[in-house]
Amino acid sequence: MLLIGHMGYTVGAAWAIESAARKEIAVDYRAIALMAIAPDIIDRVIFVFILPAALEGRLIAHTLVFQLAFVLALTLFRRGWWFYGIASLSHLLLDTTRLSTDWAKHLLWPLLGSEWRAVNILPGSGDITVPYNTWVWQRIQTASQPYGSGVWWVWALDIGGALILAAFAYRNALYRWPRLREFLTSGIIPGISRA
Ligand SMILES: [Zn+2]
Repeated sequence: MLLIGHMGYTVGAAWAIESAARKEIAVDYRAIALMAIAPDIIDRVIFVFILPAALEGRLIAHTLVFQLAFVLALTLFRRGWWFYGIASLSHLLLDTTRLSTDWAKHLLWPLLGSEWRAVNILPGSGDITVPYNTWVWQRIQTASQPYGSGVWWVWALDIGGALILAAFAYRNALYRWPRLREFLTSGIIPGISRA
């Protein structure tokens, strides 16, 4: 799924929860949007800049154990941040384009086998055989191939996510510049007091 699809569904879910809570909680949507794509940011940075042995942009941050540790770390850091941790955890759900043994081994790593190959990392540290700049550029190109792009309904889901973002902006009148500016600087929907 594309980054915009992830952001759309996660922002939409947080919006629904905030509305159901009668707006007594104030959600920072900048944090929600960032957390919706946190696993991709972490793994793509590792893939593009750091680890030659990594095979693609979905690695260790795309495992349940990493995400649960991430939720715990955020909650220990600030109690109310568990909500943003769940936004990152839900990324794994949205990345599921088909159920397979490989998918389960990656998601549940290291429970179904602790080999690095399950999280798309080759044994050993790997080698960079071309100049570093060229290597980074090649990896950026590989990492920008959207995951599951061969499946038509993944594209439909991405369009759905973009439509949710459009509805969010429209319903909260973010097309008005003062409201948009307030939203971008505070992260919360204008008119909702911060909890
Ligand atoms: Zn992902």
